[in-house]
Formats: sequence, C-alpha cells, structure tokens
Amino acid sequence: MNLIIFGPPGAGKGTQSNLIAKKYGFFQISTGEILRSQIKMKTDLGVKIAPMINEGLFVSDEIVSDLMEKVIKEKKYNNKMIFDGYPRSLSQAENLDILLKRYNQKIDLVLKLSVSLATIKKRITERRNIEKRADDNDSIAIKRYKTYEKSTEPLIEYYKKLGLLKTIDGERSIDQINKEISDIIGVI
Ligand code: AMP
Repeated sequence: MNLIIFGPPGAGKGTQSNLIAKKYGFFQISTGEILRSQIKMKTDLGVKIAPMINEGLFVSDEIVSDLMEKVIKEKKYNNKMIFDGYPRSLSQAENLDILLKRYNQKIDLVLKLSVSLATIKKRITERRNIEKRADDNDSIAIKRYKTYEKSTEPLIEYYKKLGLLKTIDGERSIDQINKEISDIIGVI
C-alpha cells in the first residue's frame, strides 16, 4: 500500500507519517526533509533552493519531480511509501500519477489532516522553539498557509473523485489521531 498525507503547515503530517512509518514499516518520503537535507549538505541543489524554502515558497515542480522519481524507482520502497509533503498542487498530483504508473505503483489511500488556522499558529510557535526551522516565523507561516489554501486544497476534490480521500480531525491529540489512522489503514 502507498499513501499520501497532506494538510496545512503545522497540521502534524510529519509527526503522523513518522508514527505510521514505524508502526507499519512504511518509508516516510518527506519532500521538506529531503530538500532541507540538500541545504544542510550545501549541495548545488541546496544552494539553489535555500532562498525559496526560507521564504516559504514552493520549489519548482521539476526539482521535486526529479527527487520523487529517484525514490519511486527504488524497488525497496515499492508499496511501502508514505508521501508527506508531496503532492502539493494539482500539477504535482498529476505528475505523481505519471511517475507511479511508470514504476507499476499506485496510491491506495489519501489522508487529509484538518486543523484550524488558530491551532496551526499555536503549533508553529511551539515548533519554532524546538526545531528552529528558518521558515517557521509568523509572516512566512501565514504565507505558507495561504499557499496551502490556494495550491494544495484543490487536491481534496481531486482525490475525493478518485474515491481515495479520508479526512481526519487533526485538532485532537497525537495518539488519538494516530489511532484513527491506524484503524483506517487496518481496514484497507
Ligand atoms: P514541509 O517540511 O513539508 O513543510 O516543507 C517545507 C518547504 O519545502 C515548503 O514550504 C516548500 O518550500 C518546500 N517543499 C516541500 N515539499 C514541496 C513540494 N511538494 N513542492 C514544492 N515545494 C515543496
């Protein structure tokens, strides 16, 4: 089974993907983590994308698509992928379909974490004190949320039409959310 988890910045995608990955032996494919590691390692790509990430802007479709293809083509990840942070727009969703087909893979489940803007603001403030992410200051966080609404929310309809979407109430505790996700995965 391959799944996608999406939701606004601060919704808990990373936390929940990590828990599911450990529990069920999935590989957590986090585009944000992959991109941040390129920046940390100061690769050519990292140097190129750092200003975009720090400003809360999307990295180009081409860059993320190339990174995703490298993952998807790896046999060891087949049927064990949890996409955390990709796709983030309709064009990326369509591209993901193409990539998956190319390697005889498909998406079986899409989880959307729903949270209010007030909760997101609170969580991002908390995360800023722990992780010190360059893109977690207030104005960038709001920009990322607006980008989510404009570019990523259309995925709701896209995956609803395909019958793959499950919406999860992300306002609850980490454990409660994890339990609901585990129940859903258990019946698929
Ligand atoms: P995240 O860790 O998922 O919050 O991602 C952090 C940042 O990485 C985002 O704000 C974007 O700048 C960049 N990023 C992550 N995933 C994507 C994607 N699928 N498309 C474009 N940019 C991305």
